[in-house]
Amino acid sequence: MTDLTQLLHALPGAVLLSRNDVIVYANHASAALLEAASPQALLGHTTNEFVHPLDKQRSSERIHRVSESADAGAGTPNKPSEFRIHTCRGNLRMVLISSVAVEVDGAPAVLMCGMDMTHQSEIQEQLRESEQNFRRLFESMQDVYYRTDAQGVVQHVGPGVRRVLGYEPHEIEGHTAEAYYPQSSDRDAFKAAIATHGEVADFSGQMVRKDGRVIDISISSHALFDHNGEFAGIEGIYRDVTQRKNLERELQRLATTDMLTGMTNRRAFLDLAERTYAQSRRKGTAMCLLMLDLDHFKSVNDRFGHLEGDRVLVAFTQAVRAQLRGSDTVGRLGGEEFCVLLPQTDTASAAEVATRILAGTRAMRLETVAGEAFSITVSAGLATLLASDKSLHRLLDRADQSLYSAKRSGRDRLAIDVSTDDPGALTL
Ligand code: GH3
Ligand code: MG
Ligand code: MG
Repeated sequence: MTDLTQLLHALPGAVLLSRNDVIVYANHASAALLEAASPQALLGHTTNEFVHPLDKQRSSERIHRVSESADAGAGTPNKPSEFRIHTCRGNLRMVLISSVAVEVDGAPAVLMCGMDMTHQSEIQEQLRESEQNFRRLFESMQDVYYRTDAQGVVQHVGPGVRRVLGYEPHEIEGHTAEAYYPQSSDRDAFKAAIATHGEVADFSGQMVRKDGRVIDISISSHALFDHNGEFAGIEGIYRDVTQRKNLERELQRLATTDMLTGMTNRRAFLDLAERTYAQSRRKGTAMCLLMLDLDHFKSVNDRFGHLEGDRVLVAFTQAVRAQLRGSDTVGRLGGEEFCVLLPQTDTASAAEVATRILAGTRAMRLETVAGEAFSITVSAGLATLLASDKSLHRLLDRADQSLYSAKRSGRDRLAIDVSTDDPGALTL
């Protein structure tokens, strides 16, 4: 036993030998584990006195069982199991103990090996706690967490997807993210941004809910790379921003719409005209502006009152709209003065539109709330974009001058700017 004793003392694990539960041998590691002054200090104590009260019963049963199995000649060891142990200094430790019946110097004994798991238990507890915290956060998160592989197949999606898209997570996992976009190509811009910058923040897009409703989303994501630096997928979150987008759209509409007629307001019209002007210049396409001003409108107000005048303005703009294509825009520049933007339209086609507007206005059968019938007319000035135009304002000016000339020559008519292809001012 002497060589064995030296070996046992050198072991990093705690080893105890007990006979009738009384410790008859302890190695250095067990003294350290139990915070005893020396291995000798442990001799004579029972093993059970170190065991936490809640584990005493289980501990006794195991020692009893292993002793019995030895008596029966089976010698089955007890599998390692964790026990709470009180050290000599009263500290609590979690120890993984295995035990086996042995025969020492011709007498039966129980050999116990212990490994201090206190630290591991703490780590496990911390892990469990952080996992619980993560789960709580994950489950209650308003945003949808998702992760795809390099092919864009969704590997994992958070429970927030139930609320945002109306799907169960498992219905999404295994499918490509594109499948939930109105058009699969809608995700291309997002993928391009990820490819260029490695990440995107607050990227706007749309997705389709299970019930078919299209929602606005905002995505923040980053690219994932494997240990070889190869692209491995995308991870991020998206959130439903439909309400915010609707509000933005409404604010945008309010900011760009004339409240009375519902047509584009002056500022938005001029912005749009500037953009169309720049595009026509770049592409060398035609563009016309048609300036409209109601004739003797003061007298409508004077005869029927301002409210009736307002109703006329609404009816007039509806009549104008009815003569236009979807790509044409009516702007209310002020009072009863309007301008029609006709992109990709030559002078002859624009003149036809103008003539229809004049005829349509003339044909309007207006009636006051009190039932009095009346009619109105409008004058129009048309100008076409010329190669020599240096700015949109040149075009606006010429349309304005034509309108003035239509007014001067008797109203209820169209005047076409003299600088256009047609020689001389055309009065229809
Ligand atoms: P002209 O044929 O020369 O254009 O005569 P006009 O009476 O229409 O003259 P002008 O264009 O100078 O006057 C516009 C009038 O339109 C002045 C104003 O009383 C009226 N007006 C402008 N804005 C509104 C509006 O929002 N509602 C109503 N009811 N009237 C308006
Ligand atoms: Mg007028
Ligand atoms: Mg006017």
